[in-house]
Amino acid sequence: MIIVMAPGSTEADLENVKKKIKEEGLDYHLSTGSSRTIVGVIGDKKAVSRLEMHCCLSGVEKTVRITEKYKLVSREFKGENSVIDVDGVKIGGGAPVVMAGPCAVESMEQLLEAAKAVSEGGAQFLRGGAFKPRTSPYDFQGMAEDGLKMLKEAADINGLKVVTEVLDQRTVDTVAEFADVLQIGARNMQNFQLLKEVGRAGKPVMLKRGLCATIKEWLNAAEYIMSAGCDDVIFCERGIRTYETYTRNTLDLSAVVAIKELSHLPIIVDPSHATGRRSMVRPMSMAAIAAGADGVIIEVHPHPEIALCDGDQSLRPEDFKFVMEDINRMSEILRGGR
Ligand code: PEP
Ligand code: MN
Repeated sequence: MIIVMAPGSTEADLENVKKKIKEEGLDYHLSTGSSRTIVGVIGDKKAVSRLEMHCCLSGVEKTVRITEKYKLVSREFKGENSVIDVDGVKIGGGAPVVMAGPCAVESMEQLLEAAKAVSEGGAQFLRGGAFKPRTSPYDFQGMAEDGLKMLKEAADINGLKVVTEVLDQRTVDTVAEFADVLQIGARNMQNFQLLKEVGRAGKPVMLKRGLCATIKEWLNAAEYIMSAGCDDVIFCERGIRTYETYTRNTLDLSAVVAIKELSHLPIIVDPSHATGRRSMVRPMSMAAIAAGADGVIIEVHPHPEIALCDGDQSLRPEDFKFVMEDINRMSEILRGGR
């Protein structure tokens, strides 16, 4: 249930509401907008009903039952789009945000080349995995903490923010030290302990869709993160498993529309992992923006032919420039420009 506080309600009204919630053994989550405060009530159904009965408290405009299991994430909870501000870079509602860089951090040299190219192209974030979730244990597993340090340094030199994957609970704090946005990879979308832990880390979280996850499972995964205290969750559609094998995965662009209908949180698209093919990154990036995505995350490698991971889907720096131009053009068209 959510409790909508009336526009003119006082701090004392809110304190009273919080007190009543606690008295029923329930928990709450506050969302303070520019015009009103919304209190999300979480917990046992019977206790919520009891609370509802005496919720004609002073300062309360109305109470609304949220029928879905995911609540804080839902459109019912918050009508307007959430804009996530990562130190001045806004994700959601405005110009598309672009995150780009290699699949994995391999060396400082590789990273500096990639970071320079993506920054010159107009990206705001440098991506790159220091902890890699690989299908085979014999494949390159990432440079761990050394990789994180390189990522941060290359990003700082080029005026970029860092988005990087956190693979397990034990390294959440370490990754949070270097990252501006914590990435939860597809394989960990339902690692609930990890979701709770990143929700407590104090950083925005980009939640990739699981390989076989339904949209509702994905929304519930985001609810884990939000209910642990993080308001800044970004969805990332990265393709799902289907019977098709020509592409690495199948990009589900309808998920962008579904997430916009069901949630107030921003969503970006990863055309690199969704297709596995360099040639498809440009058209799918444009399609993502046209479908209403708030941005894209793209793999760029200075020398894809010798990449330790995902070379076939990585753009060359010179191609990245053209993709950026097309993304910007598409975004301008959508805003009514020419
Ligand atoms: C990645 O972005 O580095 C990655 C491993 O992607 P996914 O989790 O979507 O497979
Ligand atoms: Mn990759």
